[in-house]
Amino acid sequence: MRRLAFLCSAALMLGGAAAQADLPLSPMPPDQVKTLARDVFQQMIETNTVHSNGTMKLAEALVARFHAAGYAPEDVALLAPAEHPTQGNVVVRLRGKGKGRPLLDIVHLDVVEAKPEDWTVDPFTLTEKDGWFYGRGTLDVKGDAAALATTMIRLKSEGFSPDRDIIVAFTTDEEGGDSNGVDWLLRTHRDLIDAELALNPDAGGGIAKGDKRLYIGLQTSEKTYVTFRAEVTNKGGHSSLPEPDNAIYRLAAGLTRLSKLSFPVHTNATTRAWFGEMAKLESGQLRQDMEAMTKDKLDPAAVKRLEGQIFYNAMLHTTCVATMLDGGHADNALPQRAGVSIQCRMMPDDTAEKTKALIEKTLADPEIKVSVLVPAAPGPESPLTAAVTSKMNAVVQSMWPGLTVIPDMDAGASDSKYTRAVGIPTYGINGMFPDIDDNRAHGRDERTRVNDFYSDVEFTYRELKAFSAVE
Ligand SMILES: [Zn+2]
Repeated sequence: MRRLAFLCSAALMLGGAAAQADLPLSPMPPDQVKTLARDVFQQMIETNTVHSNGTMKLAEALVARFHAAGYAPEDVALLAPAEHPTQGNVVVRLRGKGKGRPLLDIVHLDVVEAKPEDWTVDPFTLTEKDGWFYGRGTLDVKGDAAALATTMIRLKSEGFSPDRDIIVAFTTDEEGGDSNGVDWLLRTHRDLIDAELALNPDAGGGIAKGDKRLYIGLQTSEKTYVTFRAEVTNKGGHSSLPEPDNAIYRLAAGLTRLSKLSFPVHTNATTRAWFGEMAKLESGQLRQDMEAMTKDKLDPAAVKRLEGQIFYNAMLHTTCVATMLDGGHADNALPQRAGVSIQCRMMPDDTAEKTKALIEKTLADPEIKVSVLVPAAPGPESPLTAAVTSKMNAVVQSMWPGLTVIPDMDAGASDSKYTRAVGIPTYGINGMFPDIDDNRAHGRDERTRVNDFYSDVEFTYRELKAFSAVE
């Protein structure tokens, strides 16, 4: 997945500038690095890695590149589960001085399906046009995968000796499929990717509007999803003899109560920092309301105003919503069963048990049985330590002076949930600046600015150097 901008204020919506190809120019890598980066990028886009094709072919091509760049065979691993031989993962390691546990970067190689007939260019050809690179994965997330592969080759060619090992895992099945590479590597080859902390360019990152860079998000947490089923069963009978106890009516009455449920307001270090930074981009009442969310004691009036906007509502609460409904078995029979799927997006430190208990209390009918349909895979919030924020801020300022780094909690989910779940703090960021009004990740004619791609290559290089340093 790729984060979509969590931003909807009136102030920032004004203007409606169309996405422009030109942003103020950022530092660029040397020309020979640009040439390499473009070559890697083209190979990535033109190797179709939708789920049915798998990622093995591209994984093999990366292995060949790392060997050619001078990586020893034992520092480049090509891995796939026996039951999914086409779903290839590559783990490459640049050996360091052993001053600390390694730095890990994770990035997925698979892409979402793209139907050529829906696109105005071929999705599996890298097309450069009017200042943009077009192709499936240019934004999600092959641009960053190419930046990482290029950086590992560049660091090797420079003879860079980091304080600690730098590991990059190029993985599979993030967008779908049942062989998620990060999850599988952690379960079966933990030693290969074990690390002190991890970076993931598939979340956070820059946001532009028109020809202006607005901010860069540093994703430290994401909401966890869990799906429940609520069901009523009943003895049923003939429709000509209705009785008050009806499975559909009982469920419907419970759902009406559930539709009014708002979970307790809940902020955390990330969302408090997020509201604090976003407030600076706003004015008037909205600015004051956002500032109020940084306090320990929340102002109920400010909360109420913010809850009126769906994005801020999602930032402030665990949310649950009915998504699918079924019931009855014949037109002329009383329903024996009525059920509903309820999907919840929980704040990182909420639990499925607590959420289920509140749903049951709200349904307020012991005949409506609630069970877990899809369990939660919770990942804790990664701490916003001074070391992480100051390091990241220094890298960002070296690229884009004056740009704000805003801590970010996603309402969606990325591979970081797996690394966070096993205790590796993980930070999502990248140096691309998709337009707030025209983000085409997963969509047709997916694209990224040509200059953005190259400056992301430079950003990735500076980021890996800075984060591999051990003080
Ligand atoms: Zn992605």
